Amino acid sequence: MTAIVRNLIVIGQGAAGLSAALSAAEESRRLALALKITLLDKAGEDEAGGNTRWSPSYMRMAAPDRVEPSFVQDMLAATGFRGDETYFTRLAEEAPATVQWIGSHGVTFIQPTYYLAKGPPRIQPEGGGPAVIKILTAAAKRAGVAFRHYCAAEQLVEDRDGIKVVIDHDGTRETLPADAVVLACGGFQGNGAMMREHFGPGAEAMRLISPGTRFNSGEGIRMAAELGADRSGDWNGMHAEPVDARAKNSAPVVLVYPYGIVVDTTGRRFFDEGGGLVHETWEWFARDIRFKMPGARAFAVLDRRLLAIAGYERAIRSEVPPVRADTLAELAQLIGVDAGNLAATVAAYNAACIGDPDIFDPTRRDGLAASDALTPPKSNWARAIREPPFLAYPLEGAIAYTFGGLATDVRARVLRGGAPMPGLYAAGEITGHFYVTAPNAVSVLRAFVFGRIAGREAVGGLGNR
Ligand SMILES: Cc1cc2nc3c(=O)[nH]c(=O)nc-3n(C[C@H](O)[C@H](O)[C@H](O)COP(=O)(O)OP(=O)(O)OC[C@H]3O[C@@H](n4cnc5c(N)ncnc54)[C@H](O)[C@@H]3O)c2cc1C
Repeated sequence: MTAIVRNLIVIGQGAAGLSAALSAAEESRRLALALKITLLDKAGEDEAGGNTRWSPSYMRMAAPDRVEPSFVQDMLAATGFRGDETYFTRLAEEAPATVQWIGSHGVTFIQPTYYLAKGPPRIQPEGGGPAVIKILTAAAKRAGVAFRHYCAAEQLVEDRDGIKVVIDHDGTRETLPADAVVLACGGFQGNGAMMREHFGPGAEAMRLISPGTRFNSGEGIRMAAELGADRSGDWNGMHAEPVDARAKNSAPVVLVYPYGIVVDTTGRRFFDEGGGLVHETWEWFARDIRFKMPGARAFAVLDRRLLAIAGYERAIRSEVPPVRADTLAELAQLIGVDAGNLAATVAAYNAACIGDPDIFDPTRRDGLAASDALTPPKSNWARAIREPPFLAYPLEGAIAYTFGGLATDVRARVLRGGAPMPGLYAAGEITGHFYVTAPNAVSVLRAFVFGRIAGREAVGGLGNR
């Protein structure tokens, strides 16, 4: 008797999709289930991998075999206590086994030095996102997963035989039958209309932080929503970072702004640059540049003492050197900021730098606060800017990913009216779960963890269909 071959379609070749496809292949072999797994990606083979391909892929773990004891509480705090505790608890429980599983496929993990200021502990796959894509793609191919590129999923059709995926393959429409589908095709940051709808005018022109970011244009969210899927996450939430407005390379972040000041195009400060470690201030500040600052620009202004900070280059990923001048007036002219205003801003700031500069420590909140007279305040790293050469980086806010997405349960099942939708799973950026601010170094981790869960659950669920 011929065995019935089932079909699993995974949409997206990033961390979530690769984990889903590979774990499904392993689980079906373990259960001796005849399963054809097809991974679709709208990009070509050289570009598929979305954000993961361009990400250093820091993962918030104390070591490869453990998360911090406070992990779940930290996640809830980051989400303003709107996040789903069961989701983050499952993430914490499964993270060590998932990292070990990825390691078993040839990815090695290191404990990296992260910019300058110490943040929550993290691990990183050696070689970052590109290595992950390469190694897990090869493993999935060896496990029998079929890859189809230039295939953009456009629609899901539910019927009593399962779910059909309508795709556009290089301009030709095809309908692919499936017994189960895993959606792993990212957020909606690459979709100008959706960006404008959820973030307002100007959002459609927001810079995308990496070349891979553009592929995530919300089709997965739309397709599931058309079938009535529940939503989750903050639709007004995004992860953004400040980047060098002149740079052309991927993610040219400028993360030394806490050690100087940031001014708008009129030459005035607009936030507490020392309000926290970089990962505590970058998201809203980058967002404010886009949506609140004239010309959607700002300038980090520093002086020679930046160059004396050990390893400062680690916190600047722009390929363009800073604008440099011997006087503030010349610097103002070079960056197109009113010289009188900049001089007044720096003078007021310098006068407020009353603490002992010897306690300056870029690696932690050093408590070197400006006097209360300064508005906005500067809570840490307040050293006067007076030693030439003066340096400036023009900044803009760049988006990495959006928070609003699909509601899923701890088994990565997409929910509709609070109940799991038959045969439909989702993992990674496409799922909501983030609110207020992105928990630092969790997006890749959760893509791996819930991608792996989605693959296993999709196979397990086939027996019930
Ligand atoms: C520069 C940068 C640095 C980052 N640093 C970190 C970090 O250090 N730590 C961290 O946790 N997070 C980081 N992030 C975020 C993180 O990389 C992503 O959120 C995460 O990798 C998303 O994984 P994913 O599998 O959900 O989506 P992706 O990796 O984005 O993959 C989605 C895939 O779906 C495909 N796709 C999209 N739409 C369709 C469609 N309709 N049909 C078919 N295919 C489709 C895309 O082509 C893509 O290959 C960073 C992101 C960037 C860009």
